[in-house]
Amino acid sequence: MPVECRTVIDWMQEWARPEFAEEGDRIGLLVGSPSQRVKKLLVTLEVTDEVIAEASAVGADLVVSHHPLFRDPLTSLRDDLYPASLACKLVKAGIALFAAHTNLDAAPGGVNDILAERLGLIDVELLLSTHEEKLYKVVVFVPEGHEDEVRRAMCSAGAGWIGNYSDCTFQVAGTGTFRPLEGTSPFIGETGRLEKVGELRIETIVPERKLPEVLQRMIAVHPYEEVAYDVYPLKNRGKETGLGRVGRLPERMTLATFAGHVKKCLELDAVRFVGEPDKTVSRVALCGGSAMVLLQHAVRAGADVYVTGDVRHHGALEAMARGIALVDAGHYGTERVVVPAIAGYLEGRAKEAGCDLEVVISRVKTDPFRHL
Ligand SMILES: [Zn+2]
Repeated sequence: MPVECRTVIDWMQEWARPEFAEEGDRIGLLVGSPSQRVKKLLVTLEVTDEVIAEASAVGADLVVSHHPLFRDPLTSLRDDLYPASLACKLVKAGIALFAAHTNLDAAPGGVNDILAERLGLIDVELLLSTHEEKLYKVVVFVPEGHEDEVRRAMCSAGAGWIGNYSDCTFQVAGTGTFRPLEGTSPFIGETGRLEKVGELRIETIVPERKLPEVLQRMIAVHPYEEVAYDVYPLKNRGKETGLGRVGRLPERMTLATFAGHVKKCLELDAVRFVGEPDKTVSRVALCGGSAMVLLQHAVRAGADVYVTGDVRHHGALEAMARGIALVDAGHYGTERVVVPAIAGYLEGRAKEAGCDLEVVISRVKTDPFRHL
């Protein structure tokens, strides 16, 4: 079964949800049509001329990229101005482009979780929480004998998750009353007569993003013409997502050894570091890409060392003054780890859905820097 571009987008956005993205980040489908058929897709960290040539050569219909092609709003679509020139090339080649950027940085299992895993960190937590899922309580009144069907419908749509427990609901029996009026066709009772019916009050917890589907499926299987239900906003804390991670190394090591560890784990040609080489490090903060803005959070989290990319001279001086070491593993070096993860995820989703989709990992090294 062939797949449409919109399906790949849905899969990606179930993982890297758009609401996780920073404001103004140009994520999503950037070039092409949601209805485009996709037989083959190419996964890359970013789009360059070489990547587009590669996508054409392998016959890809869609490029899935971590970095968006556009940073600022386009004012023209000229083929002689970067980055519109690349968009023109993609359009001419009939190749769509989708990007998951800061939403994939923040997503569970995204860039920063992968980076933490690659560096062997344990007890990993968020460095900065930027999004907390809202939770709701859904209460529905169901005539006896229909409770299991209604409960199943709600739980299969994502209701009833508490930690690693699924199907969490509570029910209590009571008596419901109603009087069907003129023009109704009641499941139980007669028009104009007050009815007293044995009902069950079923309640369960639902995250905001699942709420519409839970209500829709609940109403669809409920036997009543007018379903009595309530939705309450909760003050319970939902799942948090955010930028960067902080964790600890299984064993303490010197900063110099740790810098070598980062280089080896990320398969890099070189890393730079800031701090005394003999300093002992144990607690490690990290954020892939260009994230010196999180330095204060790394300090606050008690990190001995902060791993990121794109460290500038004055940022390095600030880190020294604040007593935190830095390892600059490069923007490309800290983010390319996500490319095989995207490919593996999409392959898995396509297989699960029985779709005929080939996923190719780009072989182009898009890092613009070389080391001597
Ligand atoms: Zn980046």
